[in-house]
Amino acid sequence: MTTNQQAFDRARAAIPGGVNSPVRAFGSVGGTPRFFVEATGAYITDVEGRSYVDLVNSWGPAILGHAHPSVIKAVQDAAARGLSFGASTPGETELAELILERVPAVEKVRLVSTGTEATMTAIRLARGFTGRDLLVKFAGHYHGHSDGLLAEAGSGLATMAMPGSAGVTAATAAQTLVLPYNDRDAVTAVFAEHGDRIAAVITEAAAANMGVVTPLPGFTAFLTETAHAHGALLIVDEVLTGFRVGAGGWLGLEAQTPETPGYAPDLVTFGKVVGGGMPLAALGGRADIMDYLAPLGPVYQAGTLSGNPVAVAAGIATLRAADASVYRALDLAAATVSDAASAALTAEGVEHTVQRAGNLFSFAFRSAVPEDYAQVKDQDAFRYPAFFHAMLDAGVSLPPSVFEAWFVSSALDDTAMGRILEALPGAARAAAAA
Ligand code: PMP
Repeated sequence: MTTNQQAFDRARAAIPGGVNSPVRAFGSVGGTPRFFVEATGAYITDVEGRSYVDLVNSWGPAILGHAHPSVIKAVQDAAARGLSFGASTPGETELAELILERVPAVEKVRLVSTGTEATMTAIRLARGFTGRDLLVKFAGHYHGHSDGLLAEAGSGLATMAMPGSAGVTAATAAQTLVLPYNDRDAVTAVFAEHGDRIAAVITEAAAANMGVVTPLPGFTAFLTETAHAHGALLIVDEVLTGFRVGAGGWLGLEAQTPETPGYAPDLVTFGKVVGGGMPLAALGGRADIMDYLAPLGPVYQAGTLSGNPVAVAAGIATLRAADASVYRALDLAAATVSDAASAALTAEGVEHTVQRAGNLFSFAFRSAVPEDYAQVKDQDAFRYPAFFHAMLDAGVSLPPSVFEAWFVSSALDDTAMGRILEALPGAARAAAAA
């Protein structure tokens, strides 16, 4: 039998750090990353044959749990008809229409392969459409790894405490203005100074790459108004939240909240759930802006595998299966797990907050709910590795960083939930002792 350690050692000889995406290396929690061979429903199994209840779920896509029968069937059927044509297929239109139905702000949509491509293209499009160069983003928000978006980004950069990336030119970095999240004064000030040069503001629909940090009520509406008053666009990044926190994503949830003023983003990006676990993402928005893309308009974007038929089949099957009962199950699972984890930490006297954005949630080891990246970083993060490893030892796989959200699936049945609830008190004890 291959051990996780052997698999990791072998990988490190061939792949930088042994991983194809940095957070997988367990850098901030220590220990040996698990190498997985299969996953079904709520469970994922490593090379040693150990199964874990999975609360990562591929960082979001697997809302139905792993290898959902209707998704697998759709993928197998599509694969049998050919893996890639590099030409148009009816399925692409079907998926585009499903997105349009669920997200009213989206009038037209283009399919790409990764969330990084979706945000990168949205920004190029915003620049092309407005004829301006500057971009505003928020500290702790992650929008993928394109050059202009790595400044003070969340996700792996938060985990590794990297302020940005080497290899990004100073000229590119200078075109991204980074503001503290939820800070209206900072937004007003940046527009007062650079308003006629700002092409767009990009914001996570609800931030979830520095742990979960929700927009304060009305913040995104304020951003929209401010951007529009200066002729700039608003790009809402729903790569993580889209089709996960509800059928209409975070935009859909906010639209149902009476105390939140309505707003219409100009462009919206999607990934993860929209591809059902296959490499597929999308950007969409106002038709007049989207029509600025080639072949109609002057902004170029393309992809050999864009709208790949197998990925499209997975996306359609996932969105079709994600009905109201699935979102009810996700909400219930999120409430059960986050309440139980919080109760276990409280019982051990561990100071913490619970942050929730619909069924996405995370914890911070501090006394007050964080509203921005500076506050998120100001916590007893040293408690997380012990908590994480106690859960892993008890057969529950959590995100290997305190700066990431936990992802539930609708496949969490009573047995899986029981394992999580049993594991939490020991993990809380470990966190308290850290
Ligand atoms: N935007 C957000 C909000 C994300 O969470 C992510 C990935 N976690 C991305 C963009 C980038 O997506 P991808 O990893 O598919 O490039």
